[in-house]
Amino acid sequence: MECKLVPSVCSYCGTGCGVLFEVINGKIVSTLPMKTHPVNEGKLCIKGWNLHEHVNSFMRLKQPLVKTFGRFIKTDWDEAIQLTADRFREIIEKYGPDSIGVLVSAKITNEENYLAQKFARAAIGTNNVDHCARL
Ligand code: SF4
Repeated sequence: MECKLVPSVCSYCGTGCGVLFEVINGKIVSTLPMKTHPVNEGKLCIKGWNLHEHVNSFMRLKQPLVKTFGRFIKTDWDEAIQLTADRFREIIEKYGPDSIGVLVSAKITNEENYLAQKFARAAIGTNNVDHCARL
């Protein structure tokens, strides 16, 4: 049996608590607070203690879904991205770029949030960007 602790940062809010994932035979089985992390100093809230659960959840989406006639149908990434790009293009042509808004989340990384706002401004052409931390 191979067991190791992998350091990471909790992604559930912007506080950024340090955690250690307990990994047994390549599978994350628990989350522990990082005692030496300057933000949380060995403490976690209830969300942090359960951080590992979504990784192996059967409810986790692992591939894109397209809603067709009221039902979600599995598809591949190429088709999903093409469909999304086509719909963005149609909406922008008909209503303008400010008809689209991009909402991001504290549950993704700073780098992903940065890319999302860059995508909104540079690719879509709108400043309509907001974040769940403001709600
Ligand atoms: S453990 Fe709680 S307070 Fe710390 S980052 Fe996660 S959600 Fe935020």
